[in-house]
Amino acid sequence: MAIVNVTCPKCGDQSLPLAAITLTEFPLLGMGLYRFKCKYCSLIVSKPATVKQQIQLRSAGVQAQILDLPLTLQGPQEGPMTDDDLRKFRIALEQYNSCPEDFNGL
Ligand SMILES: [Zn+2]
Repeated sequence: MAIVNVTCPKCGDQSLPLAAITLTEFPLLGMGLYRFKCKYCSLIVSKPATVKQQIQLRSAGVQAQILDLPLTLQGPQEGPMTDDDLRKFRIALEQYNSCPEDFNGL
């Protein structure tokens, strides 16, 4: 069974079986977190995982949970709305046959 060396902020260094490690990756943010439960104080410890650590944990057999933020939390992707965006928005409305009369002048 593979063993991972981790550090609890209260209890210090310890070795845990690989199955005790949980890995969560946020690809859009380019970051990851690993978590474990301290075997001495039962504290759930969560720490940032570097890309190298993510790769090492995955290659050792840890199943990574992949999470992407909803688009609304990712922030603007491409600057302010353009005329082309408005044109695409109007076409999308027309495709759903729900374009109000007020949008006909766009
Ligand atoms: Zn501890």
